[in-house]
Amino acid sequence: MSALTCVYCRQQPIDSQWHPFCSERCRMADLGRWLQGDYRVPGPSVAPDQEPSDEDAPPGSFDS
Ligand SMILES: [Zn+2]
Repeated sequence: MSALTCVYCRQQPIDSQWHPFCSERCRMADLGRWLQGDYRVPGPSVAPDQEPSDEDAPPGSFDS
């Protein structure tokens, strides 16, 4: 049975301490890649409270 290799670099044997990676470096690298792929940063943040409001209407005109 061949030794398992790091799931990230696939070159170094897995270290039980960082299973299934060979080192903390690969572990963090893979984690970073996973996070970036899953949770995409949506560029500039957009304010979520931009609903049109009727209260924006001008004050009633008094044409008496
Ligand atoms: Zn590795």
